[in-house]
Amino acid sequence: MRFLPVFLDLQSGVVLLVGSGDPARAKLRLLISAGARVRWYAGDGNHDVSGISTQDAARIEPVTGDPLTADLSGVIAVFCAGAGEIGPVMAARARALGLPVNVMDDPVHSSFIFPAIVDRGDVVVAVGTSGTSPVVARRVRERIEAVLPARIGELARFIGRWRKAIHARIPEFSLRRRFWERVIDGPIGALVLAGRDEEAEAELQTIRDPHLFAGALPSGRAEGSVTLVGAGPGDPDLLTVKALRALQDADVVFYDELVAGEILDRARRDAARVPVGRRVGKPGIGQAAINRLLIEAAKSGQLAVRLKGGDPFVFGRGGEEIEALRRANVAYSVIPGITAGLGAAAQFEVPLTFRNEALRITFLTAHKARDAQAVDWSTLTDTKMTIVVYMGMTAAPSVQAGLLAAGRSPQTPVGVFARVTRSDAQAAVGTLDRLGDLVASIDGGPAILIIGDVVAHSAPARHLELTQLASYFQVAAE
Ligand code: SAH
Repeated sequence: MRFLPVFLDLQSGVVLLVGSGDPARAKLRLLISAGARVRWYAGDGNHDVSGISTQDAARIEPVTGDPLTADLSGVIAVFCAGAGEIGPVMAARARALGLPVNVMDDPVHSSFIFPAIVDRGDVVVAVGTSGTSPVVARRVRERIEAVLPARIGELARFIGRWRKAIHARIPEFSLRRRFWERVIDGPIGALVLAGRDEEAEAELQTIRDPHLFAGALPSGRAEGSVTLVGAGPGDPDLLTVKALRALQDADVVFYDELVAGEILDRARRDAARVPVGRRVGKPGIGQAAINRLLIEAAKSGQLAVRLKGGDPFVFGRGGEEIEALRRANVAYSVIPGITAGLGAAAQFEVPLTFRNEALRITFLTAHKARDAQAVDWSTLTDTKMTIVVYMGMTAAPSVQAGLLAAGRSPQTPVGVFARVTRSDAQAAVGTLDRLGDLVASIDGGPAILIIGDVVAHSAPARHLELTQLASYFQVAAE
């Protein structure tokens, strides 16, 4: 983020517009619609304001003379549009005086830039691309326009009218937030969006106990809960809609190290973020301590999210956590995520099942593979089974030895898939007898192994075949 979006109150002073022609008039209309008083230097002397109502035009002060030497006292911002060469010089003057300045289509000389705007009255959405691509900004704006209810501005105004009164009746912040969420998401919000404001007003007035409406416990506190959320393997676009909603509602997010920063960024801005994960080889705070934190957060009335890489119930200890929550009488729910194995399969085109070739899938952790008792390799000899191995990088030699000893062919196709769905994802494919080399060629985890004939269909295997074929022909030609 290079430019921070802020909303400027243009009614607190005079703004200066320097420039002429259509660009200046377009800016003039925008500034006037935001309630500004505009002092306008038109280089060509044409101050025609046709198309602007007489009432609005009264807030325009057409001036002649040189803006570079004009008195700028009382000016709160400077806009140059259609100003030609004067733009950058004017910008230097504004900056010297500490005034915010925009030169149209010239981010270098601007201290602020204009976003694409969705304008729904009191609800305004600003979309920026740091000045790189107005076309992308416009596309984003179109998408937002499409999903925002037309009367969302009226809903904001409706709530604005009631805010003080409700604040007085529900002093506690988190309960008050939930009160408004229920208003917005429930029948009252729907009435306002449908243009039936009077009915909405009446409906809100019938709420006798706002605490109860907000879902307070008999103690008067908000009811807390824990949501276990699967964050998927890395790509934030793979979050489910439900996961995103939970992150947006959270008061606090307890997250694992595996969870990418971009995913954490999708949490509500005010939510507290608490790392609780452990990294390979380094201890974390321990499962018992995590359980305690979750229980404490919920009991203090917070909406806690326990954010985990992949899916919470696939080698994620989600089962242990909900057991602890049940014992402590804490409300909880679970939102599934895309597990790393499925992320790898999709990204690298490994069909985990395939007509007659692969009829079963086993998800296995190799964490304890070095402990010979932990994995019964004889159950994994079915050649029509695809094996997906989690935490298998360091245990790869034991996985290989176990499978070979159980009788699986050294020629079984295998793949190592690292950091899947992230921008630095990496894959190495080959055969079981070469698993060690494949793992060694990977620049760090997390990584999973996929073992089985289907790996031969994967994109990296197809690529390998092509390059091998090419080198075969090259050798033949030599
Ligand atoms: N609950 C997670 C798994 C946690 S166990 C899930 O469902 O995906 C941690 C193991 O998951 C890692 O050792 C690695 O084997 C695998 N893993 C997690 N994220 C991964 C990623 N982006 N790419 C490859 N493997 C990953």
